[in-house]
Amino acid sequence: MIHQLQTISRGFAVNDSKSVEDLYQDLIVDHFKHPRCKEVLQDSTSSASLLNPLCGDEIEIFLQVRDEWVERATFQGKGCSISQASASMMCELLQGKTIQQAYELIHSFAGMMKEEGTPEEFQKLGDAASLQGVKRFAARIKCAMLCWEAAKLSLDRCES
Ligand code: ZN
Repeated sequence: MIHQLQTISRGFAVNDSKSVEDLYQDLIVDHFKHPRCKEVLQDSTSSASLLNPLCGDEIEIFLQVRDEWVERATFQGKGCSISQASASMMCELLQGKTIQQAYELIHSFAGMMKEEGTPEEFQKLGDAASLQGVKRFAARIKCAMLCWEAAKLSLDRCES
């Protein structure tokens, strides 16, 4: 009986008290546990891999770019939840964007980590906006940035 009551009260308590920070945290955990776009893209037009030795994160980004459009963006990697969730969020975001838009989004994300840019800009980052809390933890910024830097490298290789 006691057990039952506890279950019920917990069931009611969950949603109303959730802060934005909690919701962001849920999104990060969700992308880490159920990564989107996580596969090796066999017919990628460019790719780039980067390491973050401070944390042990590894990310490889694969892009399929045609006629100025990022048709597909995928990743492979391992490491902490921040690095992997960031890659999942980013790949989902970059697919279907133009190369120019992709560069702008990468710029916006880097700005968010440096406390530059506007809330309107961050909103365009989709789920990746949930990583804005990371900027408070200097050591984790590199984890969050790793995939975006790899994507920029990969885009640079498409251009040349
Ligand atoms: Zn990390």
